Amino acid sequence: MSFKVLIANRGEIALRAIRACKELGISTVSVYSEGDKDLKHLRFSDETVCIGPTSPLESYLNIPSILSAAELTQVDAIYPGYGFLAEDPDFAEMCQKSGFKFIGPDAKTIRKMGDKITAKTLAEKAGIQTVPGYKDEIPEDPEKFKAVARDVGYPIMIKATAGGGGRGMRVVEKEEDLITLAQITMQEAKNAFGNETIYLEKFIANPRHVEVQVVGDGKGKAIHLGTRDCSMQRRHQKIIEEAPALNLNEVALEKIFSACIKLCESINYEGAGTLEFLYENDNFYFIEMNTRIQVEHPVTEMITGFDIVKAQMRIALGMKFEIDQSRINFKGHALECRINAEDPETFQPSPGTITKMHTPGGFGVRYDSHIYGGYIVPPYYDSLLAKIITQANSRESAIKRMLSALDEFFIEGIKTNHSLHQKLLRDEVFINNKHTINYLENEFLKKHES
Ligand code: ADP
Repeated sequence: MSFKVLIANRGEIALRAIRACKELGISTVSVYSEGDKDLKHLRFSDETVCIGPTSPLESYLNIPSILSAAELTQVDAIYPGYGFLAEDPDFAEMCQKSGFKFIGPDAKTIRKMGDKITAKTLAEKAGIQTVPGYKDEIPEDPEKFKAVARDVGYPIMIKATAGGGGRGMRVVEKEEDLITLAQITMQEAKNAFGNETIYLEKFIANPRHVEVQVVGDGKGKAIHLGTRDCSMQRRHQKIIEEAPALNLNEVALEKIFSACIKLCESINYEGAGTLEFLYENDNFYFIEMNTRIQVEHPVTEMITGFDIVKAQMRIALGMKFEIDQSRINFKGHALECRINAEDPETFQPSPGTITKMHTPGGFGVRYDSHIYGGYIVPPYYDSLLAKIITQANSRESAIKRMLSALDEFFIEGIKTNHSLHQKLLRDEVFINNKHTINYLENEFLKKHES
């Protein structure tokens, strides 16, 4: 049986999806905005459809337009990638209602997990420890609100239940600031996510960010593909990711793996997902679940040999495929550096024309990117240009391989964070794997301020 999939995304993940489809013999339809006519993956797609003007709201976030393209080209399924509509339960529901399979979990699961309070409650039911806090309704009486916050204990993290992408979060150091910061967070959450509900979490001072990749068959069976460490972050956005996360408490880790599987199996989870944790003093604290493919999925693929995107397609389309934990083996260590179009010091976006470039290669080097010499990086979308991934027998060798890959890699015409990666990979704290989620902003950047 032959299938046709519409890829409702752009950039490197659209190309990644096309590659997976080609290997599986699936035909592809790529949609693009008027400003994206020159995207590389459009050349490799069987069909292409322009879905609207450059603005994401009118194109990649425009559900009727995407569904019309799907109808026009008569696809079987829609692949959302990450970002845009990937975690929009309404989109998943409308795809299904229009007769297209949404490649991912069902709308109900996305809705539950997209609400961080519900996700925490479900995780707790599966025996997973969550960040201690307060997730009931915030009392209207300021004194009562202060009292519940005091119970959580300062410093506190105020979070929007609908938050995402590092937004909708605020640290409160002292009681005097509680009410004002809660009001600001609610207002921002209302504007950004259309939902002003907030909850409180204990602010974990110096954790690492550790996550578990899962894959479910939608019929009650799930497996895990190990851990990733994404502690190198700026403004809660990941910059370097690695697999596996090292130096974890073995007993706690085994418990987390079985709890993650139990949770996914209990909800008949379908497709790829990630459970994110903060890890401190041998404890895992669940923070959220992403019900989609993540940017950093290649590091897991490199140490397991398991193609996550192909698995997503096969499971969704009902192609012959069985997930089996006993067949997952881990080999060596992998790193990913996210190359962004931004100034390495001010972090200001740097769109424009790539006049010249050279891509890295060689043994154990993977390069996932949609850019090429002459390509104009538009200012309207995510600044991610390329992901360089290296795999080797040890973390130390993967770092050396990455440094060599970065030496080969150059982009001219626009600014990128290439030099930031070179400095980070030579940093003693990173080399010794001692960094926490605060290290980059609180220590590294201050050390390197000129
Ligand atoms: P998002 O959905 O926006 O990605 P997350 O809940 O996954 O938000 O949190 C993103 C990042 O924010 C984490 O990796 C961590 O750096 C930080 N963070 C979240 N919750 C806490 C907390 N309770 N204490 C300290 N840092 C936190």
